[in-house]
Amino acid sequence: VTCDLVVTGGTVLTVDPEWHLYEPGYLAVSNGTIVGVGPADQGSGWTAARTLDATGCLVMPGLVNTHTHLAMAAFRGAVEDAENRLIRYIFPLEKALVTPDLVYRASRFALAEMLKSGTTTLADMYYFEDDVARAADEARVRCLLGETVVNFAAPDAPDAHGGWAYGQAFVDRWSDHPLITPVLAPHAPYTCDPGVLRTIVESSADRGVPWMMHVAETLPETQRFTASHGSVVKYLAAEGVLGPGLVGAHMIFTDEADVELLGRHGVAVAHCPSANAKSGRPIAPIHRYLDAGLKVGLATDGPLSGNGLDLWGVANWFPKLQKVLTGQRDRFTARQAVRMATLGGAEVLGLDGVTGSLEVGKRADFLVVDATDFNVQPVYDWDATVVYALRPHNVKHVAVDGRLVVEDRRLTTLDEAQVKADMAQIAGRCRATLRALAPDPKFP
Ligand SMILES: [Zn+2]
Repeated sequence: VTCDLVVTGGTVLTVDPEWHLYEPGYLAVSNGTIVGVGPADQGSGWTAARTLDATGCLVMPGLVNTHTHLAMAAFRGAVEDAENRLIRYIFPLEKALVTPDLVYRASRFALAEMLKSGTTTLADMYYFEDDVARAADEARVRCLLGETVVNFAAPDAPDAHGGWAYGQAFVDRWSDHPLITPVLAPHAPYTCDPGVLRTIVESSADRGVPWMMHVAETLPETQRFTASHGSVVKYLAAEGVLGPGLVGAHMIFTDEADVELLGRHGVAVAHCPSANAKSGRPIAPIHRYLDAGLKVGLATDGPLSGNGLDLWGVANWFPKLQKVLTGQRDRFTARQAVRMATLGGAEVLGLDGVTGSLEVGKRADFLVVDATDFNVQPVYDWDATVVYALRPHNVKHVAVDGRLVVEDRRLTTLDEAQVKADMAQIAGRCRATLRALAPDPKFP
């Protein structure tokens, strides 16, 4: 039988329902689709246009990052420990600098980091999402892109809730793209009016796509809706916007009744443990969400909040922090974390029929990870290796939709030198703007 590509010689971790591990195994790809996966001896029946030798490597599904803000890579590490950083510096910085061109170039930069570290599917929320889509199309990454809707003027919309009109046009423009799912992303319950939220819920349901929002992330938000409705989640339930289409990022401040409501409405969760920890926020009760049957995926959040865009670090810290939260060392297994970093994330984004595991019929989104490095060996348990040992530099090849977007640790879709030069230029403009904002010699 002929196909386009066969990956041989490596260990194949499928993340299929039976959790098959082929040691050694093979993976066959044709027209971007996985057409064969199994033990190595069965792979010899394939005649491929190209063979990729994965000796010494682990072949596994690409990672899924369920919540980020790509373009904020431009501001990563800026005024890091300043008091009231977001309102005093970052909002003015965005107001002064966020243009379609900055969003395009900064998103390309962030996508380079993501692809090279093994993320093949991601969900983004920001402004000028048209230009994020332009960058994502060029990088060849699978993604859900959400245009931000807020009840005040935004960089791409002068009127309150102007993101709605922008978002409609954006959705129309990109809805036939093979890798990009355009969606709407109201910023948060406290920055978007309930009538607009309901319209977003309805239009998303009509199109059969999710919608994304930050939910129960901050203390002021929680205090406000606890005073009016008992909690943020109860407020959303009262407004009739809870449902299976909602991908809620963070979901930190929830009580038992909230968990029951979220479970009943089939809400999905984008869990951002390292970004939340950096903000000094509590650890989201993921054990309760899973017990209630919620879909949960892992996320870095934006490079301003979590700084890194590599999902290995998040997959590493997720079970550790849940163990701290519950005081139980056996509360989360490495296998659960592997699943959450791949298939679990795909389920959250409604893409589990397409990606998240290596199974015949799914699109070929996979990684070839060098397992011979000092930080990886020895390997006794591949699940533990994936969660606790692997780092971005171990990623050797990355395929999205059957195409190698990273080959021998180099991007094939973007010019790395150009992408870096663009960011250096953006950073120069950021420095100048920050100097004007902050005469304090400590910053930037
Ligand atoms: Zn966020």
